[in-house]
Amino acid sequence: MNILVLNCGSSSVKYQLIEADSQKWLAKGSVERIGMSGATLKNVRHDGDEITIAGEIVDHIVAIEYILAVLLSRNHGVINDKSDIHAIGHRVVHGGETFSGSVLITDEVIKSIRDNFEIAPLHNPHNLRGINACQVNLPGTPQVGVFDTAFHQKMPRKAFLYGLPYSLYSQYKIRRYGFHGASHRYVSERAAAIMQRDYHSLKIITCHLGNGCSMAAINEGISIDTTMGFTPLEGLLMGTRSGDIDASIVLYIMGKEGISLAEANTLLNKHSGLQGISGVSSDMREVIQEMKNGDKKSTYAFDVFCYRVKKYIGAYAAAMGGLDCVVFTGGIGENSADVRAACCEGMSYFGITIDDEANRSNEKEKLITTRDSRTKVFVIPTNEELVIALDTKAIVEGKTVA
Ligand code: ADP
Repeated sequence: MNILVLNCGSSSVKYQLIEADSQKWLAKGSVERIGMSGATLKNVRHDGDEITIAGEIVDHIVAIEYILAVLLSRNHGVINDKSDIHAIGHRVVHGGETFSGSVLITDEVIKSIRDNFEIAPLHNPHNLRGINACQVNLPGTPQVGVFDTAFHQKMPRKAFLYGLPYSLYSQYKIRRYGFHGASHRYVSERAAAIMQRDYHSLKIITCHLGNGCSMAAINEGISIDTTMGFTPLEGLLMGTRSGDIDASIVLYIMGKEGISLAEANTLLNKHSGLQGISGVSSDMREVIQEMKNGDKKSTYAFDVFCYRVKKYIGAYAAAMGGLDCVVFTGGIGENSADVRAACCEGMSYFGITIDDEANRSNEKEKLITTRDSRTKVFVIPTNEELVIALDTKAIVEGKTVA
C-alpha cells in the first residue's frame, strides 16, 4: 500500500511516498516558499534521482498539484496513476483533548481540528489547508490524521495540570499537551524491540533533541509525562526557544522594556535558547564549534542544554519509579556524542555508564552504555514519516491505532 505522508506548514509542504508493506520510501521532498516568489519543489527518488522545479506555487492546492505531477512524471516519477496513492497520512500538530490516537479524516474530524485552531494557531490551520488541498487533488482517497499530541493524551492529571486556577483548564483547556508524539512512540517501541523486551513492561525515557527538543517518560507503553506543555515552548532549552522559565520574567521584561505581547512571544520563541545564550547560533554544531574554540557563552549554552536533559532524566526516573533505558534521537540526539556524553555524565550511581567508544562510533542505531550499565542508553534515528504511514495503513484497514 502506497501512502503519501504530508507535513504541511504555513509556506512549506514536506512529503514522502512510502510503500507501507516494505516500509521503504519511494520518493520524498518538499515544496518551499508557497505563496511567495521563488517557490520551488525539490524531489528525491529512492534511486538517487534528484530534481528541483521552480514555479508559481500560490497555495497548498497548487503545491499538492506539483507534488503529484513529479510523482507521476515519466522521467522523475515513481507511480503511473493517481490511484497508485492508496491513502494520505497527515501530520497534524494539535489534537487537543479530542484525539488520543490517529483517525480517519471525516467532516467531524475536520471540525475538531478547526476547533483546536485557538490553541495551535501556528500549525493547525496549515495542516487543515493540506487536508483540503488533498480533497481537491485526490478526491475519494482516504486521509488519516496523526497528531503530535495524541501519544501524550494518557498522561495523568497530576502531570498535565498547571498550578493555575482550575477554571483556566475547564474554560480554555490550558494544560500540558506535549508534542513530538510520533517520534517518542517510534523510538521507544524500537528500543523495546532491540532489547527484545515487552514494550508494556519497560520504563523508558526518550530525548528528542532537534531544533525543537522534548523528552517523555514512557511507563509500560504510556507517556506519563513530557517536557513540552501547552505549547512547544516549555521544557528543554531549544535552538531558539527558552524552555522552562519563571513566568514572572515575561511580565518583568514587558514592564522594563515596554515590549508588546507579540514581541515577548518572539523573544521567547525565536531569540532565546542556544541562540539567545550563545549569541552565536541556534545550530548545535556551531555552538559546539565555538565552545571548542573557547567561546564562553557557547559553553554556557551547551552546559544549560545538557544540564536540563540530565535533570529531566532524574525527574522522570523518579516519576516512573525506575528506568530501563534512555533513548537519544533528533538531529542533536542522533549526531552529537558530546551532547550525549554531557547529558549522562557522572550518572553511574544512577545505573548509567556511557561507553565512550560506542558513543563515538559511526553507527546510526546503537547501544552506547557499557555491558554492566544497569540502565541502557540507545541512539535511535527517528522516523516520524514511517509512523504516519503505518498508522495510516492500519486505519485504512479498519484497525484502531492508540
Ligand atoms: P528539526 O527539529 O527541525 O527536525 P533536526 O532534528 O534535524 O531538526 O535537528 C536539527 C539540529 O540538529 C540542529 O541544531 C543541528 O545543529 C543539530 N545537528 C545535526 N547534526 C549535528 C551534529 N553532527 N552535531 C551536533 N548537532 C547536530
